[in-house]
Amino acid sequence: MREQPDQRKPILYYCGIVIILMLLLNIFVFPSLLQAQVTEVTYDQFLSLVEEGKVTEVAYQDNQIQFIAADGSSRPAFYKTGVWPWDDGLTDKLLAKNVTFAAAIPTQASPLMSLLISFVLPMLFFVFVGRWLMNTMTKRMGGTNALTLGKSNAKIYIESQTGKTFADVAGQDEAKEALTEIVDFLHDPGKYADIGAKLPKGALLVGPPGTGKTLLAKAVAGEAKVPFFSISGSEFVEMFVGMGAAKVRDLFKQAEEKAPCIVFIDEIDTIGKKRDNGGISGGNDEREQTLNQLLAEMDGFDGKKGVVILAATNRPDILDPALLRPGRFDRRIPVELPDLQGRLAILKVHAKNVKMDSGIDLSAIARATSGASGAELANIINEAALRAVRMGHHTIHQSDLEESVETVIAGYQRKGAVISDKEKKIIAYHEIGHALVAAKQKHSAPVTKITIIPRTSGALGYTMQVEEDERVLLSREDAMNQLATLTGGRTAEELVFHSITSGASNDIEKATRLARAMVTRYGMSDQFDMVALETVTNQYLGGDTSLACSADTATKIDAEVNAIVKQAHDTARDILSANMDKLHELAAYLLEKETITGEEFMKILDEKAEENK
Ligand code: ADP
Ligand code: MG
Ligand code: ZN
Repeated sequence: MREQPDQRKPILYYCGIVIILMLLLNIFVFPSLLQAQVTEVTYDQFLSLVEEGKVTEVAYQDNQIQFIAADGSSRPAFYKTGVWPWDDGLTDKLLAKNVTFAAAIPTQASPLMSLLISFVLPMLFFVFVGRWLMNTMTKRMGGTNALTLGKSNAKIYIESQTGKTFADVAGQDEAKEALTEIVDFLHDPGKYADIGAKLPKGALLVGPPGTGKTLLAKAVAGEAKVPFFSISGSEFVEMFVGMGAAKVRDLFKQAEEKAPCIVFIDEIDTIGKKRDNGGISGGNDEREQTLNQLLAEMDGFDGKKGVVILAATNRPDILDPALLRPGRFDRRIPVELPDLQGRLAILKVHAKNVKMDSGIDLSAIARATSGASGAELANIINEAALRAVRMGHHTIHQSDLEESVETVIAGYQRKGAVISDKEKKIIAYHEIGHALVAAKQKHSAPVTKITIIPRTSGALGYTMQVEEDERVLLSREDAMNQLATLTGGRTAEELVFHSITSGASNDIEKATRLARAMVTRYGMSDQFDMVALETVTNQYLGGDTSLACSADTATKIDAEVNAIVKQAHDTARDILSANMDKLHELAAYLLEKETITGEEFMKILDEKAEENK
């Protein structure tokens, strides 16, 4: 932890060194520099110089004769010699040659000159060297100058540098519409000022990670063709204590000079957290100061000038309410996960940058990637391109895309994984169990793929189901169907091997979460009716929940969740027991092929049904 005085230390240090160096120079170096060169000569040489008429001035000083002689060059030369006490006629000789008698020969430079040379010059020298040193150090330390405290290192992006426009952002039409107004305002602030309309000072982009919030902010700058100041929340809270607030001040000063412009604060939650989390440590003062400064700046500047503040976060729930007050980030722009149309559009945008086979069906990929973010979709296209290269294709094939979807969802295939035949058999039955329960229930999403090739994510196999059309509502029947399907894997193990394995742990987790949500949030249990027993605290990241009920109720919730899962498990058991022959048949087929498609699965399922008739 750094403390306030620390940052001063280098400056004091530096001053001390300069003073010591200057003293040393003054004592040892300058005196000799300032002293004129004085040549010592013998007395007879002195006499002959007088004879030749070259001596112009003499003086008696410190038991020595000092004199100046013109030696032909432009500058007078200084000499000295000893005194010869018996030479009585010296005065006459000197008078005869018109030599001037002086009180002293000025071998020292003038006091002004000496002040200049011994003090001002070194001072200037050190200032320059110091500056240069500071600058190089600063650059190495990442751009925050300790002397000029508070120059921010907000990067300035101009249109050509972000290079992004709304065309790069697929889907997100509502967000784009909301931002278009801001772009228009930046193009022509006067139009708004004429009517007296004030645009919101700030807009907050909220949504899960990877949905294109940063991309949208850059696109706004690109569309408006104005300077774009971008800084990430974490950059404020760095290096020196007290720097964050200074940076905010400086950022807004720069922005006001460059208006109209955009200030973009990415991941604002790092500085914008609620301020009440005091605790034992007394909270994070540094962060609070930064936040206070930000609030003050937002209130301080004139909204009509054309500075628009954009911010992005995926934790809107933890933001300080003061930030969301009118006059600050009062406009909230949701940037949600893309729906089917959005996913297709995003895939198309990113497909433009790669070479695709002509027969590619992107909509199939869009359908198979429900819940994927824009960043994940971009990643899927890139993974497909990488796979195409690996496979020696010249363009991306549909198979590359399909494999890439699985890679992004479940990780890479673990080709080298050694799994015993016995365990492979269990995994095959487990997966067919899921698929069969799904297929035998009405309204389940169709099975599209079953595989028992293990993945790097730890999945030993999986069953892929893809909804035919996008759903936004989950009915109670849907939920119960999903639960039965989730328990189907374990149920198949029970029925066939009469033992159970740890392979169902992921299914169990998912089933528990779904059943719990049905009870506590969806109001789908008879016992509690429409009572919210849990609230979601972290909507966009993982969806943490916090319990909002008594301990007694919590116990009842657990019992209810238990009952729901048990009921689903029973349903799965009924379905599989009634279709044991198909379970065996399909499991054997999967064991042989390792991966089967939805069509193959349905074909075997239907064939069997007809034979039985
Ligand atoms: P966020 O800031 O919301 O976490 P980003 O803006 O950093 O997400 O998005 C990461 C990447 O994902 C982008 O650079 C882009 O390639 C891709 N991406 C996300 N959303 C979209 C979208 N709507 N259209 C096109 N690409 C997108
Ligand atoms: Mg971002
Ligand atoms: Zn399973």
